[in-house]
Amino acid sequence: MDAINPSPTIEDYLGIMYTLDRDGESIIGVKLSELLEVSAPTVTVTLKRMIRDNWITMDEKKEIHLTKKGSAAAASIIRRHMLTEWMLSRILDVPWSQVHEEAHKIEHSISTDVAEKMQVRLDDPKLCPHGNPFPGFEEMTQAWIPLVDMEQGDRFIIRRIHEFGEEDAHLMDFLQRNGIQPAQQGLVKEKLGFNETLTLQMAHNSVTLGLKTAKLIFVEKIEQPTV
Ligand SMILES: [Zn+2]
Ligand SMILES: [Zn+2]
Repeated sequence: MDAINPSPTIEDYLGIMYTLDRDGESIIGVKLSELLEVSAPTVTVTLKRMIRDNWITMDEKKEIHLTKKGSAAAASIIRRHMLTEWMLSRILDVPWSQVHEEAHKIEHSISTDVAEKMQVRLDDPKLCPHGNPFPGFEEMTQAWIPLVDMEQGDRFIIRRIHEFGEEDAHLMDFLQRNGIQPAQQGLVKEKLGFNETLTLQMAHNSVTLGLKTAKLIFVEKIEQPTV
């Protein structure tokens, strides 16, 4: 059987696979189990179904590859997810930190026709509200560097919170409360390697992040603060 429309579960798997692949990371069962927060046996069963339905293939090293059909379906769900995030944030004023989680509940039921209408209405966005690229626009984010690579005294503009950061509702709430959102400027006040922390001076507050969090935030380095 060659399923035409992926189920919501399969769409979740496809989306994560697409993101791992985009980042040049290998797609393996254990990563999916961690990122989707499901048990390894469950992942194995789902992967078998996905191979049967021609969404993915698995090589002899147990690495997963999206088929052409799988890749197209993944791009489609990611696009619908990101458009829904913009709809929630711009039209319904849902707080930035909550749009990912809310979009996740709605995205699976949006048809291609409605997605096209959303795209027009939302002025054809190329990045999601967290700065992640729509499929096909990856080059827009390529010049941005992980915050973790900034040094003490460096000034920056926040550009992007990685998809795997968006997944963590507590982290997103913390970031919004501390002004860590795209377009906000800041300065690295202190970087403590032994402590694995980075303290930032933002416009209205200072905030300490763990290096693990700082790896999920991408910035543009600037020389002087701009107005
Ligand atoms: Zn999202
Ligand atoms: Zn997003």
